[in-house]
Amino acid sequence: MAKRDYYEILGVEKNASKDEIKKAYRKLSKKYHPDINQDEGSDEKFKEVAEAYEVLSDEDKRAQYDRFGHEGMKSQFGGGGGFQSSGGFGGFEDIFSSFFGGGRQADPNAPRKGDDLQYTMTIDFEEAVFGVTKTITIKKEVSCDVCDGNGAKPGTSKTTCSMCSGAGRVAVEQNTPFGRIQTERTCPTCQGTGQEIKDPCNNCKGAGTVTKDVEIEVTVPEGVDNGQQIRVHGKGEPGINGGPSGDLYIVFRVRPDSRFTRDGDDIHYELPISFAQAALGDEVKVPTISSEVVLTIPAGTQTGKRFRLKEKGVKNVHGYGYGDQFITVKVVTPTKLSNREVEIFRDLAEEGGEVIEEQQENIFDRTKRFFKGD
Ligand SMILES: [Zn+2]
Ligand SMILES: [Zn+2]
Repeated sequence: MAKRDYYEILGVEKNASKDEIKKAYRKLSKKYHPDINQDEGSDEKFKEVAEAYEVLSDEDKRAQYDRFGHEGMKSQFGGGGGFQSSGGFGGFEDIFSSFFGGGRQADPNAPRKGDDLQYTMTIDFEEAVFGVTKTITIKKEVSCDVCDGNGAKPGTSKTTCSMCSGAGRVAVEQNTPFGRIQTERTCPTCQGTGQEIKDPCNNCKGAGTVTKDVEIEVTVPEGVDNGQQIRVHGKGEPGINGGPSGDLYIVFRVRPDSRFTRDGDDIHYELPISFAQAALGDEVKVPTISSEVVLTIPAGTQTGKRFRLKEKGVKNVHGYGYGDQFITVKVVTPTKLSNREVEIFRDLAEEGGEVIEEQQENIFDRTKRFFKGD
């Protein structure tokens, strides 16, 4: 049989552009695809179209064909002149899958990494600051030890799937805009593995895995903070088809402390002092996260005054040194006074009141001037 002209096959002019060739190919390959067109000879036509496209879509091959015709192509496709496409029908599969969405799926028998798991762990403030080792119990899938994860009853083995004969895929009829066509689907009996378990393991019911409470030792790193997480390698769900296990992510929730608050690696502490301590100055003991220090409060300290204890904060979880501790002074106004205290405060008011009055008058004057506009 004489070979037809490639341009004729695709129904395009000799000077057709790349786009025109591609368009023609898409149209015809759809028309003759063996899954769509069951007519006799459509298979041959489909191959013809694919061959024409392979040559005309390639600039070099097209130039050679234009000069030498089919003879010029022989060296490309071997002496017999038969069409040998590398890797199926070239770009056809991509185009086909873009029409139908599906395409080929990943091999269900390929090893896959198990799923990652997440666990939220609540720890005390001090445990976060200094680190701790804890044992947690989590429910997770583990490989069945009765069947070794195989799913088949010990002494038996998996058999070739009876529905798909081991292919993993079955043909289904489907209504599409191009009419009723046949496409392939993952086999519902074996989920594409091509294997069936006739005699499932009693322990895991054929799943190969069972859910179990598993104890895991977790090292909480020193300096970890609320919301941070660590990864425990390989403690997630078991891998599939011999793939590696997933990982376990542990997210930390840190309970607040009654004395300290934390801001990154810095610690904040509020120190209540009396009027007398603020006015006269004092030396007071202040707790830090690891010990106690003596803080000198100078005479005349105002409420809100902040002191810094360098590197008395939390050790950085990544090893970048220590944070600081900040002490904010809060002068506490007494609410219950003894008679003697009332007297002392009255004396105090007469003694020191002028300073306050002066300050208040100043503010009053400034406010008045502001409203008068001068
Ligand atoms: Zn089992
Ligand atoms: Zn099957």
